[in-house]
Amino acid sequence: GAVEASLRARIRQVPGYPVPGVTFLDITPLLADGAALGQAVEALAAAVAGIEFDRVLGIEARGFILGAPLAVRLGKGFIPARKPGKLPLEVARQEYQLEYGQAAIEVHQDAIRPGDRILIVDDVLATGGTSAAAAALVEQLGGRVAGFAYLIEIVALGGRRRLGDRPVRVVLPS
Ligand code: 5GP
Repeated sequence: GAVEASLRARIRQVPGYPVPGVTFLDITPLLADGAALGQAVEALAAAVAGIEFDRVLGIEARGFILGAPLAVRLGKGFIPARKPGKLPLEVARQEYQLEYGQAAIEVHQDAIRPGDRILIVDDVLATGGTSAAAAALVEQLGGRVAGFAYLIEIVALGGRRRLGDRPVRVVLPS
């Protein structure tokens, strides 16, 4: 539809970033446009309709930009999943493989209670490694992953396969 086309027109392709051979999808033009930013959050809200959850978990950093307004829009709380060393109290940590080397994300141990239903949000689903780590983090603390939501899915990378059989909702398949 028209909204989808307008959102797509505000995503830039940046060849060779962050490394040669990769084309990065840059969402900053979309974020800079008030109407488009609102439409993106609204589209995410529509995409997750029917998923029952208690809180949104956003993955640093672009998952914060979309996840927090989505949480506000749906009247839910927000949990930041952060890069290591950023949270002041006791954390749960999940390490994961990058193409070269390792990464990790952390949440406060008291951010998720057993049985909490968590919606994981990020801007882009690529290989799925980051989101799989976020899901493991939720489950490490006894939470349940209610589903995943993204602005963009890079379908050819097959990241969905790493997310199990939970609902995966996407605004812009790419
Ligand atoms: P994955 O772990 O699924 O391979 O990569 C997803 C993570 O990397 C997300 O946190 C996402 O923000 C970031 N990412 C990977 N590729 C892109 C891209 O082309 N554009 C943007 N904006 N983020 C990306």
